[in-house]
Amino acid sequence: MDAKALPPGQEWAVQRRLEDLLAKIAEKYGDLTGRVEVTHRPEKSFDQIGGLKAAKASLRGFATALTDPELYRKWGITPPKGVLLYGPPGTGKSLLARALASVAKATFYHLKLQNLTSKFGPNVGDLLPEILSLAVQEPRTVIFLDEADALSLEHLLPPPQAREASARLIAILAEKIDSIADFSQVFVVAATSRTDAIDPSLVAPGRLDRLIEVPLPDPQAQEEIFLLNKTQAEQAAGRPLFADLDFRSLLPPMGGMSGAEIQEVIRRALETKAQRAGAGEHVGVVTTQELLQEIDGYRRIKEVVEKIRYGQYL
Ligand code: ADP
Repeated sequence: MDAKALPPGQEWAVQRRLEDLLAKIAEKYGDLTGRVEVTHRPEKSFDQIGGLKAAKASLRGFATALTDPELYRKWGITPPKGVLLYGPPGTGKSLLARALASVAKATFYHLKLQNLTSKFGPNVGDLLPEILSLAVQEPRTVIFLDEADALSLEHLLPPPQAREASARLIAILAEKIDSIADFSQVFVVAATSRTDAIDPSLVAPGRLDRLIEVPLPDPQAQEEIFLLNKTQAEQAAGRPLFADLDFRSLLPPMGGMSGAEIQEVIRRALETKAQRAGAGEHVGVVTTQELLQEIDGYRRIKEVVEKIRYGQYL
């Protein structure tokens, strides 16, 4: 048995203690709901992540830095402090970070930096060190800096002020990462879909110096992701929800879709069913044809959103 394993009944007590500690910080600064989440030993296996073979293999490897850092000592080196996951939105970066915490039986601190900076602005510079200090006190921790590009503060301030405030923030964060003791079973994972907005000092040697690409899924990975999300919905419902699906028809129109988009298409197909059942219709399981319609509908909405975003209607 893992030396760090707790009797199941005590797991909830640890979770409660972690949340109480976070609540104390929230009393001082303001509500952290949706901005910081702490989970004691999250449950997410690498097998629940579709595609991403190389990224999964890298992160599995880094689990040793958390579970058995002494192995690094035996080979005359210190464990790495952390990694940067980069790739388009919705490709599974958060899932990977969570799965790392899960296999390493670590506490998972999820810092949603876009939401944190949007609420607290440059004051995140006061709040961040307090959260990180809490995190490093745990016996084994994964600190996940989600949407790390938000530290540039470009979304909040005009460029000169953003640069100045962001430099201060990055300096504070870098100091915190540098102060993580070697062999201390703390691992930092940062994620971004915008490498251009990541301060190079964050990925300097000795900091988050391993870069791991998290690309959009190819058709085979898309099928895997589809099936994983389908199984998840069916398990939640406790019954089959889909007919035998024809992926030769489904995959071509899904070209370029991220995992999050595939999940959204599935959710919409199921939502349509729930609504029709609500209207008193007798509805069967989801068919290939219905999914094709949802994919088409999703694509059209996506195009409209992008057109608005890029100002083509102005
Ligand atoms: P990111 O952090 O890269 O923006 P997430 O990890 O938050 O993306 O993914 C959002 C959701 O999309 C997940 O909860 C999952 O349902 C789905 N998803 C994305 N990528 C994958 C994947 N590779 N395998 C399985 N599901 C995925």
